[in-house]
Amino acid sequence: PLEEIRESVELKEVSFEYEVGRPIIKDISLRVKAGQMFGIVGKTGAGKSTIIHLISRLYDPTNGEILIDGVNVKEIKNHDLRKHVGIVSQETYLFVGTIADNIRYANPDSTMDQVIEAAKAAYAHEFIIKLPDAYDTIIGAGGVGLSGGERQRLSIARAILQKPSLLILDEATSAMDTQTERKIQEAIDELKEGCTIIAIAHRLSTLRDADQLAVIEDGKLLEQGTHEEL
Ligand code: ATP
Ligand code: MG
Repeated sequence: PLEEIRESVELKEVSFEYEVGRPIIKDISLRVKAGQMFGIVGKTGAGKSTIIHLISRLYDPTNGEILIDGVNVKEIKNHDLRKHVGIVSQETYLFVGTIADNIRYANPDSTMDQVIEAAKAAYAHEFIIKLPDAYDTIIGAGGVGLSGGERQRLSIARAILQKPSLLILDEATSAMDTQTERKIQEAIDELKEGCTIIAIAHRLSTLRDADQLAVIEDGKLLEQGTHEEL
């Protein structure tokens, strides 16, 4: 089973299309070394989030393969992927269920105290206790809807509880006021400790801490290197 990332997360000649004949990811190869922070930069619609969907197996590549420590993600049990790959984003997968169950998605055995502790650390507790049934509020289809910023904070709470080996950060703090954004950034910085990280942003300046960077344009890998090289 997947315990930690020892070597790398690798995309090998990966292509993908949501609809037949409309390629979105075009022959991308890249290697994220264990323990590093790898930044992916590109304009809106470039295909950045799609790459994350492929790594987390929401979709499988049309061509090529994705390897974690040399093992094709298709061979890794769903349960293991869910446990070890943490995604922080405004589009994080939320299922129909209570807020509490959504936070302990990757760690179903967590106690209510642990759930609340994680929510507090992610600055999600404040909005959760204002919901009709607080942590027991049902979200998702038919349930209470959440804003992008609230979804993002929920995903941070989930990741704090999860302590993933691979942490994926899909930037979208634009929907938030600056004070909330700063708090969230602090929570994220703490979360990063000890993880292999893939961080997505629109601008290079947001990824100052990245060890390696890839620039994606129109589904293609335009260039790759360190800050100095780019
Ligand atoms: P942003 O910076 O705005 O988040 P992105 O780089 O993450 O953009 P993606 O979400 O990966 O971009 O989308 C890449 C392309 O794939 C876009 O043209 C988008 O319309 C298309 N796309 C995304 N999701 C789907 C889907 N479920 N079905 C069909 N096309 C999709
Ligand atoms: Mg995106």
